[in-house]
Amino acid sequence: MKIGVLALQGGVIEHIHHIEALGHEGIGIKNIDQLKDIQGIILPGGESTTIGKLLRETNMLQPLREKILSGFPVWGTCAGMILLARDIEDSTNKHLQVMDIKVKRNAYGSQIDSFKTSEIIHEVSCDPIPLVFIRAPFITDTFNNVEVLHKIHGNVVAARQNNMLATSFHPELTDNLEFHKYFLNMCSHT
Ligand code: GLN
Repeated sequence: MKIGVLALQGGVIEHIHHIEALGHEGIGIKNIDQLKDIQGIILPGGESTTIGKLLRETNMLQPLREKILSGFPVWGTCAGMILLARDIEDSTNKHLQVMDIKVKRNAYGSQIDSFKTSEIIHEVSCDPIPLVFIRAPFITDTFNNVEVLHKIHGNVVAARQNNMLATSFHPELTDNLEFHKYFLNMCSHT
């Protein structure tokens, strides 16, 4: 399969390496035309305000939004999760607004704004997965058929709604491939 990684800003290459490690092709996506021949797309971590602005400037926001709404597999990690959210706490600056989640940016505050842990996420793997959080958001509310995949200290940090996956953390910054495997499985079933 060919899997895209939105390459306007943020941590692109690490996702591409994980896709390649699983025997598939990872392509950095910078324009609308490149959306045509991929089977799924990852929206990476970075700065959501900047990526959202660049999505508008490159005229990719609407076509990508429509593609996702028609069932195209998408996975947002960290800033990518903020891009997917229908609602962002204390902000009027929304982006793709495709996933029925409300998120809080920089939700862990300045004391523990970056941390690592390791947890079992049953839907994804029966072994513990290392989780890296960097100035991470979490999900404060879910609507409709959003399925919570994992919570830490009562806060939702991974969720799925049909063709959409969102994680607060960065599996691409560890050498664990389980989350990428899970997403590639979503891509192969559409
Ligand atoms: N805090 C960033 C934002 O709000 C997200 C951080 C990340 O992607 N590591 O966009």
